[in-house]
Amino acid sequence: MIPLLSIENLRTSYTSQGHTLHAVDGVSLEVREHETVGLVGESGCGKSTLGKTIVRLLRPSEGAIRLNGEDISQLKERSLRTARRTVQMVFQDPFGSLNPRQRIGTILDTPLKVHGINDAKERLRRTLEITNKISIPQDALQRYPHEFSGGQRQRIGIARALILRPRLLVCDEPVSALDLSIQAQILNLLVDLKKDLGLSYLFISHDLSVVRYFADRVLVMYLGRIVESADHVTLWRNPRHPYTRALLASIPSLKLGKKPVNVLPGEVGQGVPERGCRFRARCPVAVQQCETCDPPLRKLPDGNAVACHLA
Ligand code: SF4
Ligand code: MG
Repeated sequence: MIPLLSIENLRTSYTSQGHTLHAVDGVSLEVREHETVGLVGESGCGKSTLGKTIVRLLRPSEGAIRLNGEDISQLKERSLRTARRTVQMVFQDPFGSLNPRQRIGTILDTPLKVHGINDAKERLRRTLEITNKISIPQDALQRYPHEFSGGQRQRIGIARALILRPRLLVCDEPVSALDLSIQAQILNLLVDLKKDLGLSYLFISHDLSVVRYFADRVLVMYLGRIVESADHVTLWRNPRHPYTRALLASIPSLKLGKKPVNVLPGEVGQGVPERGCRFRARCPVAVQQCETCDPPLRKLPDGNAVACHLA
């Protein structure tokens, strides 16, 4: 069966002062129907750029983005409309992503109008259907974003993403700007919506403990590349990449056997080395080979994959 989303060798680059940075540097992945795929990594490793490229808020410099088999990677704005009905994005900052000068009713109505639903009654029916589902009070439609709490604003952001009835949501850190007590409510809502509407998610987070909550499969990203892909059981029991192990070790409640892995030295911003493994400056187990040879993402017999010479 054709996967809902299939990405091949995707590259998204930024150029500044004559210097090109490949924020996404040759990523391939799939999200199947009804699947939740977690995408984790520290901030600055390219997760948000990848998410924005998938929904085509950014245009990739290379590679393919196939939605139900159709490559949307180079489509222009008009031709992207059909794709926008299939894939939508929920943003990290529920305030910044809502227009402060528009009433919630307008925010939810606009996508329906843009997508050619001309009957105002039908648009209102669809708006009320989604606000009921997400427990947004009906009088909210007359009000402005600043009149709502962070959690309510994120509900509105989710309603806006769902109003066109997409099949895939790219959720970029949807709870990280919220209070801890509200985070669980929003995560539970996303779990319920998935069951109810038959959705698939690409769920981006810097926090493995959030992804752990409901991802079927987890992709670990480092400096623009996927370094490990694992089903969620294998990822927690037998993480193979040293970076994944370090991320797991940084979750306070999780024990990784007798010897906990040290917290990683350095940070992502150290840049991509010209040769060798891009993780080697921070890797606690690097060997000579890692200096000269860049490890490809290798498929393993259990269907998972890892990019490390020692795995
Ligand atoms: Fe560490 Fe070498 Fe594996 Fe890279 S290839 S993660 S440097 S052991
Ligand atoms: Mg980000």
